[in-house]
Amino acid sequence: MTMAQRGEFLDTVLSQYDWAAARLNLDQGTRAVLRTWKREFTTNFPVRMDDGDIRVFTGHRVQHSQARGPAKGGIRYHPSVSIDEARALAMLMTWKCAVVKLPFGGAKGAVACDPSQLSAGELERLTRRFAAELEPIVGPDSDIPAPDLGTGQREMAWMMDTYSMHRGFSVPGVVTGKPIDIGGSEGRMEATGRGVAMCVSRAAPRLGMPWPNLGVAVQGFGNVGSVTARQLAQQGCRIVAISDASGGVYRPEGLEVANLARYVEEHGKVAGFPGGQPIDNDALLAIDCDVLVPAALENQITTRNAAQVKARLVVEAANGPITSAADQILADRGRAVVPDILANAGGVTVSYFEWVQDRESFFWSEPEIYQRLETIMERAFDDVWKRHETEQTTLREAALLLAIERVARALQQRGLYP
Ligand code: NAD
Repeated sequence: MTMAQRGEFLDTVLSQYDWAAARLNLDQGTRAVLRTWKREFTTNFPVRMDDGDIRVFTGHRVQHSQARGPAKGGIRYHPSVSIDEARALAMLMTWKCAVVKLPFGGAKGAVACDPSQLSAGELERLTRRFAAELEPIVGPDSDIPAPDLGTGQREMAWMMDTYSMHRGFSVPGVVTGKPIDIGGSEGRMEATGRGVAMCVSRAAPRLGMPWPNLGVAVQGFGNVGSVTARQLAQQGCRIVAISDASGGVYRPEGLEVANLARYVEEHGKVAGFPGGQPIDNDALLAIDCDVLVPAALENQITTRNAAQVKARLVVEAANGPITSAADQILADRGRAVVPDILANAGGVTVSYFEWVQDRESFFWSEPEIYQRLETIMERAFDDVWKRHETEQTTLREAALLLAIERVARALQQRGLYP
């Protein structure tokens, strides 16, 4: 994201909140509390580099709300992160957890760095030092980090180990997204994509679309996009187009997703896959299909291309893939959009399962995880759909109303201290 886009992102998140708060008729106090961030933490911390030099890195952790439970949210490593971006993402995490009724609030963390330019040793020292700096404000009862852009299982293992070393015993519940051997959960890798596929399967019939006889285009073939495509293909959809950062492929009769996954494993990219015609990303977003799943980056559907989207249903697997102006264009053209705070909430839901299992030291099987995930996602989808029908709003507006109402209720019931 550019600096201007980050500012715009925060403005969008705040204006969505203002709209919902007004519509819910929230009292002035509740409105003011939820419009700001409970706690913001910035640290400039030194890390010894491999060449012996010491570099100072800047990291943030923003906790938006803990009204419904401990704060929850990822930690991002990227050169252009900012506190405004962390604020916007933390607020969205509060709403996302509330949509799926998890007993969590929202948070987000970030370190300004380029992980591709750091050695494994440098990344380990940076992560452990950042974890130590965060110690006063994180913990299994207060704020539970998870992976995000540029971080994964390895970084979570280092964070958990650092926190545990300082406590003198293992505290697996301090982070989620850990390797299974040290308290990670079965099913975490597939959770987000499965949740996205569930949203498609529930939204399409309600829109009068002939589920599962649908053509689907998926932008992004990473963790989320690949699982979504595989799940939908298994359920009988035709995956007509897939792209990644290298380009895309198109086959109107349906791509062989398993073959494409093998090709990507071997070649590291989608472009060049022989089972379809080459297309670029702009073409993918405008392709003739029933369902479009942006599962790559933010700001992909903008005023530049929203009028070209042919899909009747767009399911936001990525966070913020549609700008607010583009969202309006899609709504005006009768396109239904399942918003990110619902569509990709499968990931944080299984993170919640991981935290519960860590606290009990009792681990569930993969089928149990998927069953519980399905129950939670289906209930959340149905709640949002009902609200959208009764209040005549878009699905995004309905999800926001539902979430903000739940958080506001928690805040009001807890009352004001002292
Ligand atoms: P990933 O890094 O595994 O995959 C991202 C994919 O997008 C890759 O295939 C990459 O090549 C592709 N991509 C990058 N730039 C592109 C471009 N310009 N055009 C087309 N494709 C491009 O990431 P992921 O974990 O799959 O996450 C994808 C999105 O979903 C992100 O927005 C992320 O924040 C969101 N999300 C992920 C999870 C999760 O559990 N992983 C949970 C919630 C939200």
